Amino acid sequence: MACDHYGPLISAYVDDELDEEARADVEGHMGTCAACAAEMQALLRLRKEMGQMVLREPPQVVWDEYPACVATRAWRNIGWVCVVGGTAAAVVIGVVAFACDPEVPALAKGIVGLMGVGLLSLLLSVAKQRCREAKTDPYTRILR
Ligand SMILES: [Zn+2]
Repeated sequence: MACDHYGPLISAYVDDELDEEARADVEGHMGTCAACAAEMQALLRLRKEMGQMVLREPPQVVWDEYPACVATRAWRNIGWVCVVGGTAAAVVIGVVAFACDPEVPALAKGIVGLMGVGLLSLLLSVAKQRCREAKTDPYTRILR
């Protein structure tokens, strides 16, 4: 019971977030409870080790290549926009020309229309799934 009370206070004690009264209360419990004292020692050891960690600087080659990577990514995105936009325009023009051609039998128009509806349905299904997964993907912030 008492240890449940002191669990969160031990972490706050180690982080120096307690007022004098709470600090004295925690110190009093540490003198009577070996389990909580051991937990505090473990947290103090962890804090000390974390404080000694050094942030590594990336090698200079990473900084040298960074602008090229950004430019490559921008050109790639522009390329994708052009490909997708051009393809969409070609498909719309082709569909309109096909649907308006009086020499194409109605049955052929119906079959091709059915294929188009199926393809559009599949594309929308994949896009919807990708959007849903993008919201919960833990790896979206990883730079490639
Ligand atoms: Zn305890």
